[in-house]
Amino acid sequence: MTDTAAASAAPGLGSLGIGIEPFPRHGNPVFRIAAALWRRDIAFARRGWQRIALIVCALGGVALWLLPQTVVTDTASLLQVESVRIFYMVGDLSLSKVSDSFATWLVGIALARAAFVVAIGLLDMATYRRIVGRPFDWESMINVSLVNAFFIFSGVFVLANDGLRALLTHYDRLLAQVPTLIDLNGALALIVAALIGDFCFYWSHRFFHGNRFFWNLGHIYHHRNRNLTQLTCAIEPPLLLLQAAGGLSLLLLPLLSKLFTTDIAGAGIVLLVLMIADTWTDPSHSTFMYWLESKSRALKALRKVFVTVGVHFVHHSRDTHGPKGTGCNFGARLTVWDRLFGTYVEPEDAIPASGLFDPHADACVNPLRYLLLPYVRMGAELRRNALRHWPKILFGPVGYEPPNPVAMSH
Ligand SMILES: [Zn+2]
Ligand SMILES: [Zn+2]
Repeated sequence: MTDTAAASAAPGLGSLGIGIEPFPRHGNPVFRIAAALWRRDIAFARRGWQRIALIVCALGGVALWLLPQTVVTDTASLLQVESVRIFYMVGDLSLSKVSDSFATWLVGIALARAAFVVAIGLLDMATYRRIVGRPFDWESMINVSLVNAFFIFSGVFVLANDGLRALLTHYDRLLAQVPTLIDLNGALALIVAALIGDFCFYWSHRFFHGNRFFWNLGHIYHHRNRNLTQLTCAIEPPLLLLQAAGGLSLLLLPLLSKLFTTDIAGAGIVLLVLMIADTWTDPSHSTFMYWLESKSRALKALRKVFVTVGVHFVHHSRDTHGPKGTGCNFGARLTVWDRLFGTYVEPEDAIPASGLFDPHADACVNPLRYLLLPYVRMGAELRRNALRHWPKILFGPVGYEPPNPVAMSH
């Protein structure tokens, strides 16, 4: 790691004020080491031993990045797949409900989806310089892989929490009392389930972009990266379930699904069509996929219905504030809700610059700062402002600035 490379990698670092760093620079050696680790970004020279260290760390980064791919694709245990994800935000389909030969097809596509995301990630790495005109951001990939690994392991811990499980079981019991208003089956059920799933995701995602608490302590992680690719994309912290973009959906989705009983098992060919659409749209942060889409009219036509990589990349743009001023393209898989509620922005052929709206935002190419900066910043805001401002500091709109703002990058 070097300080000079750190300064160029993190444009906002210079605005970090002394005195609001979480660790004192002097005194206790543990704090001194922590302070030094806090300030420095991951950076390797491209020569000598640092080049070798970069290659070793990059290989480790790719291995860590593979971790979430196996966790989130339901195919961790290849020989005993009990259910598969058909479409993002639609409940998994139990394979015992379909014939063996059809189940083989579904498992085959699920495996292909996992392999596809991995292949696209590696293609991003190989083609980034040609497509974007800058060298691939290896340091960011290493950093994000470390951060994602932390989020995944802490997520496993959170989900294993008995209290939380008891709460969700209680919610399940409450839902059992809710009557079913409309009973749907087959293809219609699947289409309605996809619409309900995306409706819940859309509103929770839009809400988290507008509320300080959920934005600063949760969703900001997913939007920080300035050199976004499939391999440099951070997931979200699972410390509070409601922090993740799908958190609110976790409560809304089962409720709406109960009102419209949706047995998707008999959807037949529509299951395959939606699963293939899910596979295509899954690597939604890929620069290679963006380039491919920009060259093809047929792929652009998919935007009429699906959130393609182009549509989602505009959501990550640091320049496009959207028609409502707080962002755009909040849908997960379908563009219908963005179009209906006036937040849809059509992508252009050139890849937009990704990252936070704040031009001085810290790139945080340092896992410690990446994880803690939003909490340190909000803690400093609370300390510097009177108690009566706390509700707005914690839960006010994202654009709110407290009377005594902190001199610290986002
Ligand atoms: Zn977002
Ligand atoms: Zn994203």
